[in-house]
Amino acid sequence: MPLPDVVSWTVMIAGYTQNGLVEKALETFKKMQVAGVKSNSTTFISILPACAKMGALEQGMDIHQSIIKSGILSDVVVASALVDIHGGLVDEACKYFNGMSDPYCTMPTMDHYICIVDLLGRAGYIEEALNFIIKMPIKPASVVWVCLLGACRSHKNIGLGISTATLLFELNPKNAAPYVLLSNIYAEVGRWGDVKKVRRLMKDRGTKKIPGCSWVEVRKMVHVFCVGDRSHQQTKDIHAKLEKLSGEMKAAGYLPDLRQVLSDVEEEEKELFLGHHSEKLAIAFGLVNTSPGTTLTVVKNLRVCDDCHTAAKFISKIVSREIVVRDANR
Ligand code: ZN
Repeated sequence: MPLPDVVSWTVMIAGYTQNGLVEKALETFKKMQVAGVKSNSTTFISILPACAKMGALEQGMDIHQSIIKSGILSDVVVASALVDIHGGLVDEACKYFNGMSDPYCTMPTMDHYICIVDLLGRAGYIEEALNFIIKMPIKPASVVWVCLLGACRSHKNIGLGISTATLLFELNPKNAAPYVLLSNIYAEVGRWGDVKKVRRLMKDRGTKKIPGCSWVEVRKMVHVFCVGDRSHQQTKDIHAKLEKLSGEMKAAGYLPDLRQVLSDVEEEEKELFLGHHSEKLAIAFGLVNTSPGTTLTVVKNLRVCDDCHTAAKFISKIVSREIVVRDANR
């Protein structure tokens, strides 16, 4: 384009962020500044998740400093708040958010709040994230609390995880996410009795988790797999392929991440569960049915677990193929 504007730059940044190309996103943001194009609040929402994904709180601050300089008022509010949160000045930060001290300030939107709770949560600033939510001048949407609950899980803050989940159950008893997150929190510390209780609660309230499935296109036909799926007519070949790969992967140094199997079963059985996640079945099917060297593209409706992510990398190396696995987030 002869003169890329703020929209062109922002679309590129958002595209990179959504596809996990975080460094590219940050690089493009810098290029945009060098080109003298002013960022707007959408640019801000596009670049913040990139910082969160990298756990790059510092980098997030830098970006906000430059947004301050660019003079977009709504972003100044968020940026100043972030800088202060980092310095532990949550009260000060919330004052910015209230926008009371400056009559020209535009109120930040719910998206901005979600970005910041996510950024803080991922960086392990759980207490700060909680204080931040409590002091929000607008009623936090439940997704803000889900964000905090996710952070409690990652950083093993069980106490806060339980109270956040309880609050979410009250807000929306039909939303499956908090039940799943809470049962995962319990499972990771081996509290199987509590895992069962949460699952029962979920069932009693008629809350349904969307079943995970993955699909792969081979010769203009889409093939769908669920976890442990044995309904495909080539199921024998698929499972044989997975078994062979499993041996080769282990020889190459792969260790199954059994934390990803959140149920109270023997280790060996866990490994079996894990080995049959839908994305692994889809990859195996793709390998069996395409010629060597063909790129595979697998899509999953939910998030890909850490183990499948690692396994896909090992498989790609072993079979010398490019394997693209895309999930609901990226
Ligand atoms: Zn998996």
